[in-house]
Amino acid sequence: MIVPGHAYEVVPFRHLEKAMENYDVIVLGAGGVGSAAAYHLARRGAKVLGIDQFPGGHDRGSSHGETRVIRQAYFEHPDYVPLLLRAYELWRELEQEAGVDLLRQVGLVQIGRQQTLIRKA
Ligand SMILES: Cc1cc2nc3c(=O)[nH]c(=O)nc-3n(C[C@H](O)[C@H](O)[C@H](O)COP(=O)(O)OP(=O)(O)OC[C@H]3O[C@@H](n4cnc5c(N)ncnc54)[C@H](O)[C@@H]3O)c2cc1C
Repeated sequence: MIVPGHAYEVVPFRHLEKAMENYDVIVLGAGGVGSAAAYHLARRGAKVLGIDQFPGGHDRGSSHGETRVIRQAYFEHPDYVPLLLRAYELWRELEQEAGVDLLRQVGLVQIGRQQTLIRKA
């Protein structure tokens, strides 16, 4: 994958040794997390190589699928909240750069039995 305007490339694993001579950073695994890391490094000016065992957009990783949920209501710990707010900003930035609608904000209802973590939160 080459991101227009950014030095971000994914090559087959067998070319790794040669590729290591030419890149600042190599990200192994180009699913959602690896792709985001590679993309943001490339935006900061690093020459980045993403390596994956399968072709881009494959259906054999956790990131495969049409939709994902993101939410601000995290009952695990309040420290999550600033990270989540930043994630919303970054999704909006990515939408603008890609020219594609990616994030649809809707309401959220979480339901749990009394005394469970969700109810206490
Ligand atoms: C069904 C499902 C629903 C989910 N729903 C949500 C949700 O609603 N909200 C949410 O926030 N999260 C959700 N998650 C979790 C979220 O999707 C994952 O945490 C996230 O996609 C993980 O991304 P990843 O890049 O770490 O992993 P992956 O997308 O699995 O990427 C890992 C990549 O590494 C490559 N790789 C692995 N080993 C090697 C190797 N040895 N050499 C080369 N390449 C390798 C794989 O081929 C793969 O492309 C869901 C997960 C699943 C499975």
